[in-house]
Amino acid sequence: MISLPQSLRRIIKELAELPSIGPRQATRIAFHLVSKGSQRIAGLSSSLKELSNIKTCKACYFIFDSAGDLCEICANPQRDQTLIMVVEKETDLISLENTNKYKGRYFILGEMPKTGLLEDWQKERLASLKKSILNLPGKVAKEIILALNPTSIGDFHASILIRELADLTPKLSRLGRGLPSGGEIEFADDETLGSALQSRG
Ligand SMILES: [Zn+2]
Repeated sequence: MISLPQSLRRIIKELAELPSIGPRQATRIAFHLVSKGSQRIAGLSSSLKELSNIKTCKACYFIFDSAGDLCEICANPQRDQTLIMVVEKETDLISLENTNKYKGRYFILGEMPKTGLLEDWQKERLASLKKSILNLPGKVAKEIILALNPTSIGDFHASILIRELADLTPKLSRLGRGLPSGGEIEFADDETLGSALQSRG
C-alpha cells in the first residue's frame, strides 16, 4: 500500500469527519487542494483560522462576530422578543430568515436526536429558553413557534416540547402545514416556507 505524506493523511482524516464527506471524497479534495498550490492553501487556511473568531449568541445560540453577547437578530430592538421560533439548526434559521416574513426571534435547540429524548446539552438549552421567557415582562412569550421538521422524529419531539413550554405562552404553534410531509425546513424554498409561516397552527 502506498504511503502518503503525513500532512496529506492528516487533512484527509479531518475532511472525512465533515458532514456528507466520506474518505474517498476527502482524499479527492485533499489532492485538489495540493494541486492548487501554496497561495490557495494559505488563503484557505487563513479563512479557516478566522472561523475561530465566531461567537455563539448567549440568547439564541446563533453565530455572530460583532461586539457584545448577542447576535444581530437578538440585539435588534425592532424584533419582537416575545415571539420565539424554536429551530433545530443554524441552517433552518437562515432559510426561515430568508423568507423575510418573520419579525420575532429564534432559539436553536440543536438537531432532534433520531432515537430517544433530547440530549443533556439540549435539555440545558431548553432550560435557558424557559428562564429567558420567565425574564420577559409578564413572564410569558406572546407565541412560541415550533419549527421542527415535519417528520416522525419532529412530531415526537414537538409533543415533548409542547408539554414543556405550554405554561410559558398562550399560543404554541407548529410550523409544518404547507411543508411537504417528511421534508426538511432547510431545503424548502422561500415561498413554501413563507406560506408555512403564515399558515402555522
Ligand atoms: Zn441571538
